[in-house]
Amino acid sequence: MTLTAHVATGIAVGSLTDNSSVGFFAGWLTHHVVDGIPHSDPGSWGAVGESVFKNRRSLIWTVCDITIATTLFFLFLSLSGFSTVLFISVLGAAIPDLIDNSPFWSKPLRKLPPLKWFHQFHEVIHYTIKVKKYLWLGIMTQILIIIVSLAAFLLSSAR
Ligand SMILES: [Zn+2]
Repeated sequence: MTLTAHVATGIAVGSLTDNSSVGFFAGWLTHHVVDGIPHSDPGSWGAVGESVFKNRRSLIWTVCDITIATTLFFLFLSLSGFSTVLFISVLGAAIPDLIDNSPFWSKPLRKLPPLKWFHQFHEVIHYTIKVKKYLWLGIMTQILIIIVSLAAFLLSSAR
């Protein structure tokens, strides 16, 4: 799942609670729920972690994803009045991939037993679409998750 979709779900979770601990845990939980929804990402064409830099398509995808996710994060953090709960909720939603899928530090971290087990769990729950003719479907599921999540924020802010 893209970082943008995880940030969007973290924004939604952060707008639905007033408690940072609940926001972090719910963000962490939603990360794994949305990873289980069929989606397209660089893993769809075989790029994972450190190999993202070896493939031009994956690099462009990753740079665009990080740029959009960061923009959404700061935009909605600003709209929330720089809510600490929203910040912590987004952190909870993004941190599983920041730990387990970074091209910089994930490979050595996965050698440590707790993170090795977490990586195995993270891989098992992931549903990455690998059939080329269905890649569009995996993009649509993420667009839907992002729209629903940001709508949840806007609806809860309007109350
Ligand atoms: Zn993940």
